[in-house]
Amino acid sequence: MKRFISFFSALLVMLCVTNASAQEFEYARAPRFKALFYYSMNVELAHQQFAQGTLDFFKGLTVGDGWTMESTQNLADYPYERLKEFDIVVFINDAPTDPKVRADFQKYMENGGGWLGFHAAAYNDASTKWPWYNEFLGCGKFLCNQWPPQPALLTVETTVHPVTKNLPVEFVSAPSEFYMWQENPRDKDNVEVLVSISPKNYPFGIKDVVYSGDFPIAWTNKNFRMLYINWGHGDDEYMESTQNLMAVNAFRWILSRSPKGNPFAKYTK
Ligand code: ZN
Repeated sequence: MKRFISFFSALLVMLCVTNASAQEFEYARAPRFKALFYYSMNVELAHQQFAQGTLDFFKGLTVGDGWTMESTQNLADYPYERLKEFDIVVFINDAPTDPKVRADFQKYMENGGGWLGFHAAAYNDASTKWPWYNEFLGCGKFLCNQWPPQPALLTVETTVHPVTKNLPVEFVSAPSEFYMWQENPRDKDNVEVLVSISPKNYPFGIKDVVYSGDFPIAWTNKNFRMLYINWGHGDDEYMESTQNLMAVNAFRWILSRSPKGNPFAKYTK
């Protein structure tokens, strides 16, 4: 009798699992999307290290061939006709300077392209001379930073947004350098700030100290399918689980709004 009950228990478990599989899981039958990672090695060492860390981290997310990852140090190899094949372009540590490359990227974004940028990808000053990119980013030129790199308490300003829905309302970042801007992205009607430096950090920094002020570090320009995250300095940026989770969330959110359709939506066949 005992063996009889065990048999039916096992059968019941099998039926439940089979049923749940059909309803709740969807394995990719082909790569769901294509992502291009742009970076430079002609930059300061800490930004090179972040590029390597970012490539390694996202490469880890390709296990199982769920999506296609390409990386390049030369965006000139990706004119618009090629760029538009990608569902997202990630600027890891730099932005292009070549006028043709800039124009192709602008066309890509204005035609529904997806973009995730980190740290120095948004750095710009008087020599940058790319007004469209300033509008796109929603921030002005670089103003100041704290120094040296250190962890910071971050405030998650909304947990309604898909990028932050599963995050605590505050978390401590990995060590990083954080930028403040001449024009606050929060002042733009088309910008939504998701995460900022907590005022509890002030005075923030040891050599270069920031004493006060609004310090957004992750935001989206709602006119585009984009998100910018300000961390990205050094080789230990991917050591904090909550921060890594937000990076994955950001990547997925941008992709989920692709004009080609949400690559994570269930197949309907
Ligand atoms: Zn930096």
